[in-house]
Amino acid sequence: MKEKVVICGAGIGGVAAAYRLAVKHGAANVVLIDERDPLTLTSDKGTQGYRNWWPGPDDTMLRFISRSIDLMEEMADETNNLFRLNRRGYLFATAQAGGVENLRTTAQRVSAFGMGALREHCASDTYHAAPPEGYRDQPTGADLLLDDAALAAFPFLSPATKAALHVRRAGWMNALALGAWMFKQAAGAGVTFVRGKVTGIDTVGGRVQRVRLSSGESIETNRVVLAAGPLLHDAGRMLGIELPLFHELHAKVTFADPRGVIPRSAPFTIWIDPVEIAGREFPGGAHVRPFDGPRGNELYLIWTYHSEPCTPTWPPPYAAEYGDVCLRGLAAMAPGMAPYLTAKDRGVTDGGYYCKTSDNRPLVGPLGVEGAYVLGGLSGTGIMSSQSAADLLALHVTGAALPDYAPAFLPSRYDDPLYAGKVEQWGRLTGQL
Ligand SMILES: Cc1cc2nc3c(=O)[nH]c(=O)nc-3n(C[C@H](O)[C@H](O)[C@H](O)COP(=O)(O)OP(=O)(O)OC[C@H]3O[C@@H](n4cnc5c(N)ncnc54)[C@H](O)[C@@H]3O)c2cc1C
Repeated sequence: MKEKVVICGAGIGGVAAAYRLAVKHGAANVVLIDERDPLTLTSDKGTQGYRNWWPGPDDTMLRFISRSIDLMEEMADETNNLFRLNRRGYLFATAQAGGVENLRTTAQRVSAFGMGALREHCASDTYHAAPPEGYRDQPTGADLLLDDAALAAFPFLSPATKAALHVRRAGWMNALALGAWMFKQAAGAGVTFVRGKVTGIDTVGGRVQRVRLSSGESIETNRVVLAAGPLLHDAGRMLGIELPLFHELHAKVTFADPRGVIPRSAPFTIWIDPVEIAGREFPGGAHVRPFDGPRGNELYLIWTYHSEPCTPTWPPPYAAEYGDVCLRGLAAMAPGMAPYLTAKDRGVTDGGYYCKTSDNRPLVGPLGVEGAYVLGGLSGTGIMSSQSAADLLALHVTGAALPDYAPAFLPSRYDDPLYAGKVEQWGRLTGQL
């Protein structure tokens, strides 16, 4: 493809789009623009996990993310795993009888969507633990470990644990290393990076004509891709388009665990039970994972107990209680953490904004103005979805054949009132952990 393509935004979405267009489709004239250093607004702030665990409402997201995982595994093969993709899995644990049944029935449903088989274990000798590093030759599906089997495999969990569900095609990576590698490959394939703020997009006769920058410069182009992350609303308005997006503020805590309570080899572990803290009940979902693989002693903690839509402002206004609440939630799951509560340290909180659609599926494809495309609304799953989203975007831009799931990500899906009604029933937290 010879025509120029200008991509606005060099987060993981924009960088992956530049990589796919230039390296995989041979697009000769791609310009990537960002007002910041690439990958520094949201894409370096998350927990960088991935999972083929998508409970519903149907198999669309599971198939979409599975494509992304295929592509990430290919890239890990190609780079000798430069970005340290692991396959430790996601582990959902509960101390409630209802929680066990919930895990079982949900896993059966996700299995039917294509996650892989569900295996139940009453003893741990039939269960194969995940290696701390690497991603090849591992099981798919999930293992449901009951009672003593769960505690034998994961002794850091509360002794009250009744079950732990280990989802196997899941884990995490170093998203910055992945992004930096794609950026370098894209530059090597001829992509130009321009540091600047896009302030306007001109159209002539309903077709994109040029992109204007705050520096006063402009770039003539017939194709623009909006990949502006939590600033996508503003980018859409440059074309007179109101994108169906909203935002939530999400934070993670980096916390040192010098006692080694959470093993360095642990999976991404999630306590699905509600936790009462100082007389207030918090919903299930406290998460923890080791940071920096087997090395170091730090953990990432994250807990989505606050998901009200908000308007992004920087620096993000994190709740002062967040580190404390995460630590207390983690202590409910892993009581060995409790001694840390008596010290003052609550770690370091940072994060960013999930930019979301009401069906919690990305927006990927053409917009109502000819030559304009979007890759965004990546929510809390934009690292894991970045490859299939960029793959799909590149197919749209180059006019290639599209996969059957493409319509589910088109911005125009919201023009259908029947679809909008369905989405209302699913709720805006569908697919969110
Ligand atoms: C706490 C937290 C935990 C998370 N955990 C995970 C996880 O475990 N797994 C996972 O898959 N995802 C996770 N995510 C989500 C993931 O990080 C995001 O979905 C993803 O980074 C979004 O990428 P993006 O490229 O759309 O946006 P961004 O990374 O925000 O990039 C957008 C870029 O566009 C640029 N830009 C915007 N407007 C303009 C303009 N007008 N001109 C020039 N440049 C512009 C910005 O400067 C920015 O660099 C998490 C997010 C958070 C906050």
